[in-house]
Amino acid sequence: MEGRCCSSMPSSAWSWPAGGCAVWWRARGGEVRGAWPATPSLANQTPWSLLKLLGEDAPPALRRRTQGLPPTWGAFMLYLGLDAAALPPGAAEHHQVVMDLGRPLGEGNSVFLSVSPAADTSRAPWGMRAANLSSHTAVAPWWRLRQLPDGGAAYEARRQRYQEAMLAAAERALPGLRGAVRLQLPATPVTYAHWTARADGMVGGFPQGDLWRARGPRAGLGRQLANLWQVGDSVFPGQSTAGVTLGGMRVARAVLAGWRRG
Ligand SMILES: Cc1cc2nc3c(=O)[nH]c(=O)nc-3n(C[C@H](O)[C@H](O)[C@H](O)COP(=O)(O)OP(=O)(O)OC[C@H]3O[C@@H](n4cnc5c(N)ncnc54)[C@H](O)[C@@H]3O)c2cc1C
Repeated sequence: MEGRCCSSMPSSAWSWPAGGCAVWWRARGGEVRGAWPATPSLANQTPWSLLKLLGEDAPPALRRRTQGLPPTWGAFMLYLGLDAAALPPGAAEHHQVVMDLGRPLGEGNSVFLSVSPAADTSRAPWGMRAANLSSHTAVAPWWRLRQLPDGGAAYEARRQRYQEAMLAAAERALPGLRGAVRLQLPATPVTYAHWTARADGMVGGFPQGDLWRARGPRAGLGRQLANLWQVGDSVFPGQSTAGVTLGGMRVARAVLAGWRRG
């Protein structure tokens, strides 16, 4: 089996002629820059993104499977560059902070905070430390505000509120953290959609709550999509870099076995 890797080339459409798959790359202006027959095809996509890529060629089985699927979570993130000298010495690097035990988790009320080790100069220059703060957030409200005809004012106000909530949570774990901030970059589901092309900026895939209802890489797609596989956190075993790697290895083995059988 031959392969070629094209990085930084977002495919803009997939068509599905006669059971095979052709992947198209288009430049921003819309002109086709490359087309590729690809059978079998592995889509590292959420079901919604795959449906969009296939467009009118999307088989009914995939449409049915995607319709009515509940949205998955999004994440609100704060990426910080911190002055190491201004942080409390000897503090732990990972913290899960819950601000109010009486309120639901997520939406800034629970925050996971990770700070890079002081000696790790691959993550931050000497004397600085990188911090990631994350909280689960529902994606819909962000898009609703983003689309208001107020020039983004309400969206920006909410983004500001969430940043404040995240910093307040981080201060509980690392008092004085605000004073150490030299760089502050927020990310909402709108940011995730832009940079990762995940539909509506949803992350994390589907919760793996029931082994009997786990989503397989082909299960339920029907004969029309026999050569189309899904990998990534939308299929079992799901979320985490370890999970998606295992899922990808499983699919690769199955595809190779089919290829050898002819
Ligand atoms: C805030 C946050 C914190 C996390 N922390 C951890 C952690 O500590 N440990 C852990 O194990 N997991 C963590 N995860 C989960 C982990 O990041 C995900 O489970 C994993 O990245 C999912 O991998 P994926 O391949 O399914 O999707 P992605 O990582 O989204 O990869 C899909 C790739 O496909 C590209 N793509 C999309 N559309 C196209 C297209 N049309 N053409 C070409 N390329 C395209 C995207 O740009 C992207 O690079 C975290 C997730 C989030 C959101």
